[in-house]
Amino acid sequence: MTAAAKPETLGFQTEARQILHLMIHSIYSNKEIFLRELISNASDACDKLRFEALNAPELYENDTSPGIRISIDEAVGTITLSDNGIGMSRDEVIDNLGTIARSGTAKFLENLSGDQKKDAQLIGQFGVGFYSSFIVADRVVVETRRAGFAADQAVRWSCAGEAEYQLEAITKAERGTTITLHLKDEEKEFANAWRLRSIIKKYSDHIMIPISMAKPALDKNNEDSAEQEVEWEVVNKASALWTRPRSEISDEDYKAFYQHVSHDFRDPLVWSHNRVEGKYDYTSLLYIPSEPPFDLYQRDTPRGVKLYVQRTFIMDDAEQFLPLYLRFVKGVIDSSDLPLNVSRELLQNSPAVSAIRSALTKRVLDMLENMASENPEDYKKFWGAFGSVLKEGMAEDFTNREKIAELLRFSSTAADRDEKISLADYVARIKPSQDKIHYLIADSYEAAINSPYLEIFRKHGIEVLLLTDRIDEWLMSHLSEFQGKQLRNIAKGELDLGELEKAESKEEKDDTDKSTTDSSELTEKIAGILGDRVQTVRLSRRLTDSPACLVVGEHELGVQMRRILEAAGQPVPDSKPVLEINPDHPLLSKFSGGSDAAIEDLAWVVYRQALILSGDDLDNPGEFIRQLNRLLVA
Ligand code: ADP
Ligand code: MG
Repeated sequence: MTAAAKPETLGFQTEARQILHLMIHSIYSNKEIFLRELISNASDACDKLRFEALNAPELYENDTSPGIRISIDEAVGTITLSDNGIGMSRDEVIDNLGTIARSGTAKFLENLSGDQKKDAQLIGQFGVGFYSSFIVADRVVVETRRAGFAADQAVRWSCAGEAEYQLEAITKAERGTTITLHLKDEEKEFANAWRLRSIIKKYSDHIMIPISMAKPALDKNNEDSAEQEVEWEVVNKASALWTRPRSEISDEDYKAFYQHVSHDFRDPLVWSHNRVEGKYDYTSLLYIPSEPPFDLYQRDTPRGVKLYVQRTFIMDDAEQFLPLYLRFVKGVIDSSDLPLNVSRELLQNSPAVSAIRSALTKRVLDMLENMASENPEDYKKFWGAFGSVLKEGMAEDFTNREKIAELLRFSSTAADRDEKISLADYVARIKPSQDKIHYLIADSYEAAINSPYLEIFRKHGIEVLLLTDRIDEWLMSHLSEFQGKQLRNIAKGELDLGELEKAESKEEKDDTDKSTTDSSELTEKIAGILGDRVQTVRLSRRLTDSPACLVVGEHELGVQMRRILEAAGQPVPDSKPVLEINPDHPLLSKFSGGSDAAIEDLAWVVYRQALILSGDDLDNPGEFIRQLNRLLVA
């Protein structure tokens, strides 16, 4: 051993220490998952070696068959797991085992509450990985040598606590990584061959790399058995799951495989496994998770599928196979039409990839459509988790716009509070004379359902969709029609109830004409007082119970879009709303004949009330309160 250097002590990065702390104090009731994590890493390491060796076969060092070996020492209470994968250099050990690079981790950890049950669930979506060793072990030793490095360029990493770890240069003849877990006293039961075999069957059967354990000695009384060379026996199926026929794969297999590819420890909602033969040959296995990862909206969050070419692992996170708005989809694609040395750049310009991408996109949308019709409960869950991401598709994917529109869900005045309906549901019960789909945008369901814009629609019994996601106005700018019906924002433009209104309000009209003359003086006065705050003031046909509301032009931006532009630092076009007043409201009838000062207060109060109701910020709360109070005590 040339490296005479003493072991060096290094500290963990803060996030890594926090995760480690959680593992040591074991918030998991399901302790056996540590084995799945270590096997998953070993399998990844073998995949990486195979990939790197495509261009550098010497990395194999004459040992071309990948494998994972697991052994135990029952007496001492250790489990040892060896792989002949890519291994790690000293720097890689520090980067990979001493830090957590995923962005947003610190913030995510802040949200942990110390409530064991909740935290265990939360951390499941994070993916605990290597640190899960500490659920069962109080000391972990990793010996590793990167493929292609000299034997004396190996490293030993050892750790027995939360704060720090030791690094030491060692000599290691075989490339790859050996991990030894020194089990905690109370977890010694894991040092048992049958126990480990059953855990492997349960979680790691689908791993492509053979996992071997010592064959149990047939003759227990054989005195020499300890001296005999160990006979290894493969204990998993060791074939690529997606290459097996669907009928031979159980749901449990599919779920375990999902956890391996997604690093998400919850069950997927649904999956679709297909072999396609034709112009391009490929197999895809795609999953829809049941819940979003904590960094779904982080720009640099890895997305995409695991890519294999003829069963050789090529890369993680191949994002070229699915559009951005389907970034929640996980899975694998195994293609026969790509070269083994394919790079990300090549993927970008490959006709095979774009053909596969459009086929996979359709497949995912079909999967969602099926779920929506056959498992509405699951679809509800999906929509809650990923609905706002799917909405991006309306802008991103012109070809599939109609399919996506069918998958959208909204609250509605004709549904219960926590029920969401589709546009098709709306159209199915539309009034015969109604030619438009009406919707309202607001910050919350409460704000929407209590909005004065709904008054006239209630009166006529017309359903209105209630859109409360902060990107809904943007979404609607990409959706103007559905099944031949125009979509209309009820807070924009002139009220248009179409045929319906013409039929119903013939006689009412005569009344309105009378009050119009009486009120035109009032609208003029108010317009004069508000000046350039409003474009004009007019009598409202929308309101029955409220004094006033603001309406923007049909093609002008609403509050939501203005906020989005502001947040993005973009210029917001200048536009003025129309103030609509309801002269029959007692507030107006009481003060409209009052002094100039009273009318001035009245004008501002109804304007500012309407501003609040439109979802906008109140421009001058102090003044508003003074004006309102003067009217109250008048
Ligand atoms: P993840 O697998 O999600 O990346 P882990 O915590 O499981 O996270 O592992 C951290 C990193 O440590 C891996 O990404 C890999 O680079 C490295 N690693 C872990 N185990 C091995 C191994 N057996 N061989 C080579 N590298 C490994
Ligand atoms: Mg891992």
